[in-house]
Amino acid sequence: MSIRIAVTGAAGRMGKTLIEAVANAPEAELTVAIERPDSSLIGVDAGELAGLGKNGVALVGDINTVLDDFDVLIDFTAPAATKLNAQACAKAGNKMVIGTTGFAAEQKGIVIDASEQTAVCMASNFSTGVNLCFKLLELAAQVLGEDSDIEIYEAHHRHKVDAPSGTALSMGEVVAKALGRDLEGVAVYGREGQTGVRDDKTIGFATVRAGDIVGDHTVIFAAQGERVEITHKASSRMSFARGAVRAACWLANKDRGLFDMQDVLGLKS
Ligand code: NAD
Repeated sequence: MSIRIAVTGAAGRMGKTLIEAVANAPEAELTVAIERPDSSLIGVDAGELAGLGKNGVALVGDINTVLDDFDVLIDFTAPAATKLNAQACAKAGNKMVIGTTGFAAEQKGIVIDASEQTAVCMASNFSTGVNLCFKLLELAAQVLGEDSDIEIYEAHHRHKVDAPSGTALSMGEVVAKALGRDLEGVAVYGREGQTGVRDDKTIGFATVRAGDIVGDHTVIFAAQGERVEITHKASSRMSFARGAVRAACWLANKDRGLFDMQDVLGLKS
């Protein structure tokens, strides 16, 4: 039996790519597509919107009217929307894959509460390559971290609304944890003017927003006389969408709990 998937934010950059990824996954079926209630696209066919031809799933504007029609919601929207969706899914027992980034602590708390009642897979990046990089970063931090200056560079398209990216923050968290540091205590999110010399323990972030860059991340470990750089470059949103659909299918035999893409890929040590 295939997993019934709902995609919310269906008209967004990720939403349209997710509709295509679900269409390409034999074990999954798109049964619901959701957009903002005030969207002019309500009623439009989701397959046509994604450029795939009609699939018979019309966009709806209220998740509460379709809770019986799907098993897993894939949500790449905005924090305020994801928070409300998490509350609705927790109440109805629908599972969730959450790719939205830029949560405030209170919004993230609502998602964590929801995972006590249903199964939630949440990740700042659903691509296999980035999740492999998280493992490589852990090793690099353990071997090089104490003797290196660590800097994280990320670049995204001009429409991205949060910075640094959720992926860059996750990379910082992986490195900080491997070194026994608290990211909030050591992160430097921007430099300007008379900054003074670099503090050894800090982890610096640099952000670029330009054009149509899908997502570049580099973590630099710069020691005396040598430098290691771990880089991931996304060239298509399909890498995130395929990972999210894989996560949705993986949730099938989970009743409740908070998971991430490392769980899905079996990368947790
Ligand atoms: P986008 O602006 O193109 O799409 C967001 C869509 O959500 C829009 O169509 C918008 O109308 C819709 N939306 C907003 N509120 C809604 C609501 N209440 N109900 C239904 N739909 C609603 O943005 P995007 O580039 O597709 O990115 C969306 C989110 O996914 C961002 O937070 C981004 O950072 C994140 N993202 C995560 C990953 C990952 O792998 N985790 C990858 C790419 C993007």
